[in-house]
Amino acid sequence: MDAQNCPFCKIFSGAIAAQIVARSEHSLVFRDLNPQAPTHVLAIPKRHARDLGEFVATADAAEVLDLFKLASEAGRAGSTTGYRVVTNEGIDAGQSVFHVHLHVLAGRHLGWPPG
Ligand code: 5GP
Ligand code: ZN
Repeated sequence: MDAQNCPFCKIFSGAIAAQIVARSEHSLVFRDLNPQAPTHVLAIPKRHARDLGEFVATADAAEVLDLFKLASEAGRAGSTTGYRVVTNEGIDAGQSVFHVHLHVLAGRHLGWPPG
């Protein structure tokens, strides 16, 4: 999937609507369409990369820091008693959208290990 056909690039540009939670120079946080917890948001970098591996291979430090900052702020806003940040890469992990994203989940007890 290239950037032109990518739903998350379209959410970043505003071409597809989403419930935006936070925005910064390099990153965006928006609510997941199919939430798995009372707070379930996705933190994405502006720059298209298909997964975490491709993102870290090509990102500069400011982009990575920015993404994790917004993810931690969203998690702490969702709960004062804990939250989870997870990313799925590839078929075994169940990745379904090929623009790297951090899931931020909060607001209920989160079992471990995940499925
Ligand atoms: P993955 O399975 O790739 O780890 O996660 C993709 C996530 O993106 C899923 O949780 C799914 O609900 C969410 N998602 C897919 N398409 C859209 C969309 O167009 N808008 C929003 N807000 N979330 C989406
Ligand atoms: Zn994209």
